[in-house]
This record gives sequence, structure tokens and C-alpha cells, in this order.
Amino acid sequence: METSGSDGRQPLAHPLLKGQKALVTGANSGIGKATAIGLGRAGADVVVNYVAGRDAAEDVVREIESFGVRAYAHEADVSQEKQVSDMVDRMVQKFGTIDVMVANAGLQRDAPLTDMTMAQWQKVLDVNLTGQFLCAREAAKEFMRRGVVPEVSRSVGKIICMSSVHQIIPWAGHVNYASSKGGVQMLMATLAQELAPHRIRVNAVAPGAIRTPINRSAWDTPEAEADLLRLVPYDRVGDPDDIANVVAALASDLFDYVVGTTLYVDGGMTLFPGFATGG
Ligand code: NAP
Repeated sequence: METSGSDGRQPLAHPLLKGQKALVTGANSGIGKATAIGLGRAGADVVVNYVAGRDAAEDVVREIESFGVRAYAHEADVSQEKQVSDMVDRMVQKFGTIDVMVANAGLQRDAPLTDMTMAQWQKVLDVNLTGQFLCAREAAKEFMRRGVVPEVSRSVGKIICMSSVHQIIPWAGHVNYASSKGGVQMLMATLAQELAPHRIRVNAVAPGAIRTPINRSAWDTPEAEADLLRLVPYDRVGDPDDIANVVAALASDLFDYVVGTTLYVDGGMTLFPGFATGG
């Protein structure tokens, strides 16, 4: 049977992730949505996690199913321990196991330091950092229970943390967000060191400026986009598919020896472009 996505894209001829089971958090919008669709296109069955937007999540499920793989939407708040463990338990019941956990869900609650409330600080840390801890822990338990299945993948499992260039670039007015992503960097590296002997690969992807709802004000007028592009040597704002493609490759056995690394997908934002003419 010929299958294709709603935009006419075909499943890949040699699916990188054939037979693998993936869970993407925050998969009804932006980068998570593109990633869930990208993993489905690469042959994986996919759980589409969301917390609020059910209709958008169901649209993503339909798009993934059009590639001839399985998908379903699951509502869970990644900052809630029981909801995360229930989400992974249900995935094991429905799909048999999990091979790829993409801890992507994240948000911003911006304010200058002296105006930032405890609630703004805590919410961002809870979702962006504690959420990734919980998702990694529940996935790792299932990876270790199951062990390697050589015909599926050389590794026992893959955990991919969605970080940000702000894991290393300070960001005034966003101390909660930058602190959460700095935490993700060390969460990822420590888990990579701890889990590598179990043949579990933990890595991060650090997007630069990607066109999604989280940063709409930074690109939705020509003036804002021009201002943003001063920070991007490659001179274009990224698309969610730029991240999705890297996640699919990183999750595949093509990247089997990549452990504990952050892949910056940022058009050169971390090259300190201000120094191209100054300094
Ligand atoms: P987005 O379009 O706003 O998507 C955020 C997603 O996170 C939504 O699906 C949202 O679900 C979900 N989410 C929020 N709180 C959640 C919770 N408690 N539990 C489960 N899901 C939750 O933003 P995005 O740009 O795609 O961001 C995705 C990730 O990329 C984030 O970790 C972000 O920090 C990172 N990132 C983005 C950029 C960029 O330029 N866009 C750059 C660097 C890093 P609902 O819609 O259901 O609320």
C-alpha cells in the first residue's frame, strides 16, 4: 500500500527506525510535533504526549498513521511523577516497550529577576528539568528490564533531551529558562555516564532560534526577524523539521557511538557572531 503524509511526503525508503517505539513529550506543537511526525516517517510507532491541546495531538496522530505506522495521543503533565510513570506503563501495554524517549516538553515564563515570582521560577524548573528527569527515569527502567533486541537496535534504548543554546548562552530576563536548560545539560551528561554501561545512549539536541509558538514575538514581524537574524550566522530562522531530522538520525543506529553529546542545531548561534566584526 502506498502511504504518504498530508503534505505528500513519503515514508523513507529504508526507515531508520523501523520497528522502534518512540515517545515524544510536548508533541502537539512546534518542535515536538515535527519530531513525532519525523520519527513516524522514519518507521517508528509513536506516542504523542500533550498536556492541554488534545485536538492538535490527534491531528499529529493522524499524520503519523498516514505513514503506515502506529500512533496514539496521551495526555500527561511531564512534571507529575505518577502521570509520567502511567504514560510509560500504558505505552508498554500498547506497544510492548519503548526504544526512544524524546524529552521535549518545555515552556517559558519570562520576567526580569526582580519581578520573577516563585511560581514562574518553579513552573519552568518543574516542566523543563524535573519533567526530563522523570521521563528519563521511567524510560531507563523499561530499557533495563527489556535489554537489547539486536534486530531492532544495537543499543538498549535512546534518551534525547531537548535542551537549548541557552544551556550555555546566558539570557537576561529568562533566568528560570536558562537555569533549566543549564540543568538539562548536566542531567544529560550525568545520565549518559551512568547509563552507558547499560548500553543506553543519552544525548541532547540544543536548538537555536526555531520558528514555533514558544518564541512567536521573536520572528512574527520583519523587524523582529531581522533583529533575531543578527544572532544567526547562517541567516535564516530554523524550522521545526531542522530539529526533527537531527532527532531521527540521533535516535538511529547511524549514531550508535554518540553518547553524552549535545548537538547544537542553531545555524551557528553558538559561534558568538558578535565577534565576526567586533572584538
Ligand atoms: P511549543 O510549540 O510551545 O511547544 C511546547 C510543547 O510543550 C507543547 O506541546 C506543550 O503542550 C508542551 N508542554 C508544556 N508544558 C507541558 C507539560 N507540563 N507536560 C507535557 N507537555 C507540556 O514550543 P517549542 O518551541 O516546540 O519547544 C519545544 C522544546 O524545544 C522546549 O523544550 C523548548 O525549550 C525547546 N527549544 C525551543 C526553541 C525554539 O526556538 N523554538 C529553542 C531552543 C529550545 P500543550 O500545547 O498541550 O500545552
